[in-house]
Amino acid sequence: MKFGGTSMAGTERIRRVANIVRAQAAAGNEVAVVVSAMAGETDRLVNFCREANPLYDPAEYDVVVSSGEQVTSGLLALTLQSMGCDARSWMGWQVPINTFANHANARVGDIDAEKLIASMQSGQIAVLPGFQGVSEEGRITTMGRGGSDTSAVAVAAAVDADRCDIYTDVDGVYTTDPRIVSRARKQKYVTFEEMLELASVGAKVLQTRSVSLAMKRGVRLQVLSSFVEEGAPSADTLPGTMIVSDEEMDAILEENNVERQSVTGIAHDKNEARVVLTRVPDKPGAVSEIFLPLGDAGINVDMIIQNVGRDKGETDVTFTVPQAELARAIALLEEKQSVIGFNRIISDANVAKISVVGMGMKSHGGVAALMFKTLADRGINVQAISTSEIKISVLIDADETELAVRVLHSAYGLDSQEAA
Ligand code: ADP
Ligand code: ASP
Ligand code: MG
Repeated sequence: MKFGGTSMAGTERIRRVANIVRAQAAAGNEVAVVVSAMAGETDRLVNFCREANPLYDPAEYDVVVSSGEQVTSGLLALTLQSMGCDARSWMGWQVPINTFANHANARVGDIDAEKLIASMQSGQIAVLPGFQGVSEEGRITTMGRGGSDTSAVAVAAAVDADRCDIYTDVDGVYTTDPRIVSRARKQKYVTFEEMLELASVGAKVLQTRSVSLAMKRGVRLQVLSSFVEEGAPSADTLPGTMIVSDEEMDAILEENNVERQSVTGIAHDKNEARVVLTRVPDKPGAVSEIFLPLGDAGINVDMIIQNVGRDKGETDVTFTVPQAELARAIALLEEKQSVIGFNRIISDANVAKISVVGMGMKSHGGVAALMFKTLADRGINVQAISTSEIKISVLIDADETELAVRVLHSAYGLDSQEAA
């Protein structure tokens, strides 16, 4: 069981979480619980690091930002104990949750869960801080923002859990962010592939890595709300959204005699920035001169367009980078201006990427055409496009995000029929 930041925000809410955990244990289950820091706490800690040293050492950053989860895991263990449950906390290094590669963005490796399993088998509820691991050098690491989801899946795989339940502040995965579109619909089932794609284009309900790990390790993953009153009727027969394999989805659709929809979800991401290099020489090797230094600096480039060549063998190249990396990217490119041979750099951070995702795109035509037509009808200009087998993304003015998501949601027939 994993509980997110809103579910852990304060001792009252933690008591509610403890009740949900206690009920699972009382039903005869062996339980491990992974918790996030209280809502807003990690942001606060990140700001302290920035204030202390803008060029902070990521290893020390990890010591600071991982502390939010240490607090909530101790508090949950204490609350469970106050209810008469046997419970203890396990810090990342105590399990240990081994991680590798970069501080602040560590990847989870092997978890030796022997001690954890023994404790759970003895009837003790294990409470673990999400987000936190230990490096090969024995230092504290964190797994990137939203990383507690990945901690939960990793622990579930290590203890060979029947299921990994992700409790959050919405009762499942919706057709789009329910905080933006009130007509968003809760989905009973979403495939791993779709969830992976949705998470990677901005649906933050699950961290992308948690989905790929669950897919790889065969962890049964469910998203559900910790805010449902006991005995309250659920929106459908499932309390949350089950993430299933493509084969399982086929079987479910067949059993219910329904067809796969072309689009199952829409996501938005306001964390990218657009960069245009004008008058780049239109010759072999030119784009590699642009993207090699960015790659070497670890800056992730997402969308790329090379515009139609201008006269005189020149072309404009447009691409997006994470907003947080924009200044660094511009500095690197300016340094290389004479080598690359471009004229000007134009950048814009006020952009949003809107993506439509669905396995059904493989078999339905016209999905992209409908997207462009719908946006055009509202006068929304498309600045860049990228696609994968099951996704189409467009870059637009950030001020038009809500409108774009809403009209696309209607256009693909995703609106809930209930009055919003
Ligand atoms: P937690 O703290 O529990 O990890 P997050 O804030 O990380 O919670 O993720 C839950 C939030 O994800 C929801 O409050 C919702 O606004 C947002 N969200 C974005 N897209 C979706 C979606 N398609 N379905 C459900 N929630 C979504
Ligand atoms: N507390 C961390 C964050 O805010 C990890 C998480 O909640 O998943 O990113
Ligand atoms: Mg989260």
